[in-house]
Amino acid sequence: MVKPLESTIGSMPTTSPPVLESVKTETATHCPYCALQCGMIVAAGEGREVTITPRTDIPANAGGLCQKGWTAGELLTNGTRLTTPLLYGEPARWDDALDHVATRIREIQDEHGPDAVAVFGGGGLTNEKAYLLGKFARVALRTSQIDYNGRFCMSSAAAASIRAFGMDRGMPFPITDLAAADAILLAGGNMAETMPPFVRHLSGMRERGGALIVADPRLTPTAKMADLHLQLTPGTDLALALGLLHVALAEGYADDDYIATRTAGFDAVATSIAAWWPERVERITGVPVAQLRQAVHLLGNARRAMVLTGRGAEQHAKGTDTVTAFVNLALALGLPGREGSGYACVTGQGNGQGGREHGQKADQLPGYRKIDDPAARAHVASVWGVDPADLPGAGRSAYELLDALGTPGGPRALLLFGSNPLVSAPEAGRVADRLAALDLLVVSDFVLSETAAAADVVLPTTQWAEESGTMTNLEGRVLLRREAVAPPSGVRSDLSILSGLAVRLGHDAGFPADPRAVFEELRLASAGGAADYAGITYERIAAETGVFWPCPAEDHPGTPRPFLDRFATPDGLARFTAVEHRPPEEDLDVEYPLYLTTGRVLAHYQSGAQTRRIAALTAASPEVFVELHPDLAESVGVTHGEPLRVVSRRGATEGIARVTGAIRPDTVFMPFHWPGVNLLTNPALDPLSRMPEFKVCAVKLERVA
Ligand code: SF4
Repeated sequence: MVKPLESTIGSMPTTSPPVLESVKTETATHCPYCALQCGMIVAAGEGREVTITPRTDIPANAGGLCQKGWTAGELLTNGTRLTTPLLYGEPARWDDALDHVATRIREIQDEHGPDAVAVFGGGGLTNEKAYLLGKFARVALRTSQIDYNGRFCMSSAAAASIRAFGMDRGMPFPITDLAAADAILLAGGNMAETMPPFVRHLSGMRERGGALIVADPRLTPTAKMADLHLQLTPGTDLALALGLLHVALAEGYADDDYIATRTAGFDAVATSIAAWWPERVERITGVPVAQLRQAVHLLGNARRAMVLTGRGAEQHAKGTDTVTAFVNLALALGLPGREGSGYACVTGQGNGQGGREHGQKADQLPGYRKIDDPAARAHVASVWGVDPADLPGAGRSAYELLDALGTPGGPRALLLFGSNPLVSAPEAGRVADRLAALDLLVVSDFVLSETAAAADVVLPTTQWAEESGTMTNLEGRVLLRREAVAPPSGVRSDLSILSGLAVRLGHDAGFPADPRAVFEELRLASAGGAADYAGITYERIAAETGVFWPCPAEDHPGTPRPFLDRFATPDGLARFTAVEHRPPEEDLDVEYPLYLTTGRVLAHYQSGAQTRRIAALTAASPEVFVELHPDLAESVGVTHGEPLRVVSRRGATEGIARVTGAIRPDTVFMPFHWPGVNLLTNPALDPLSRMPEFKVCAVKLERVA
């Protein structure tokens, strides 16, 4: 029997060292991994073993789970689990570890100033953790130096959405709308591997006769199910979007009435798009003119159509402009803000949406407020009981923060929660040098990730099924993660760690370890902001299987489709913005004649710190590989299954050759779940979102002797 609400959310995680004791009930909660946040029932018996079954009441998965979700219970019993703080590699008492961290923070800040201590968060942290982390940085540390790994995930789509719609809610409609569409263009997404239950929504559309168009340099499992695959050259997504819009306007698919009544800025875009005739776009992207036209016809003739972007289109040094170009296409066709149609960014990380709303981003305060907005500062400062003048300003973005560590004028200490940048950051070799230059590196994690292994202090934490809190899924639906099993003795929650450090830094109040108490404060802090959670309660989430923000009052129904009547701009109109294509920051040359693009595989999640510890997942996908075309393999002299070295200007790594016709001959693909791949990638940043160019850089291949 599923644990009733009062017994599941009434007993929040312990703030004192927990005891080893299993809960013998079934608990309705959510998967620890991606932004689909599939609902699952966790049944815990004696010991820490659990069984997992999918929930049918959560529309995102509706009874489905992927292999990662089915095996998530093994995370709880994994033998590599950390249960004791480590102080310079030696087991330590909690008080000694926290005392040491607090003392070093004081010493470093006394000598170098508040910004000498930095904080790095993660898109997998609950809303409560993300909120308290931002408050801890600004109030307890008084540092401006905080950002998080979500900057590497969807920041370009967020920047483009704010530019066009005045608000970033990745998917501004319920996910179930997808199956009711008649055509969907998916640019740079591979849900069949990253979030398989998502595919049922696409399949539902196709079973009704709808058309799926996928733009991807690889014939991925998602592209294989498409009616039309646009196999573009890496780094040319922006040109592709410009070409599609050119065709749409030239062939009369523009929705003139919608453009006139719901948008602004169309004329400048229409003028600029004239230069992107299809033959020119074919030369740049490699996508035949006939396919460009076919894609436009499918979208333009559909009664309800959608344009979706994923990391493939977004993780570029021109990612914001690329997404803007796809948004322009959607606006010209009259899609956003119409029921059954629209534009959406498909967020990737577990709490990628909520994690970017409540203050762990360098330029934000809770409620998706801007930190340089005087009214926002005044509101949040009043909730926090501080003087607005005492709140720091905007800090460095994620890669810039990592790149400044240990440099003159840069942070001397880093507190890191829920992230593994030695695997996930671009040009990871450089990041390793910067981490090594710190006076103090503190990592909070439940396993010894690659980054934790390099830390001075490691603080062992609770994980998904051992804690409660809220997660906001890719739809903007706020969900409840519930404690299903007691944590092992010796670990503490991130909230407890922040609370303990805050007390040692002189803040006896204001940093509760109880997630419900944190959420109640988050509601106040977010009230009136774009991401307004004021009307959301744990009880409502449970009763309504999630609440869509914005939700400004407890009697407000939540907002599944925020743009139906107006967009979140001052005048209510969506904005067209003229953008231009430009080549990748690092294009091909004689020395480095191939594109490298990176991505995910079915069995692993993000840096692999969790999934590389699960036997079934490592059996399914044991090692890093290099996907390459048969013609390229022949020219290099490598056969399927042989080791192969991939070299960029920044580093080199090896993988097993996987020879396949599913990839372009000028491109190699590597999954980034293993250390080494991001030694190669280019940290060139988008000027607006500060997103690194993960998706394309120049490499060469070498045979391994
Ligand atoms: Fe669902 Fe994503 Fe978990 Fe897979 S990893 S079960 S798709 S939430």
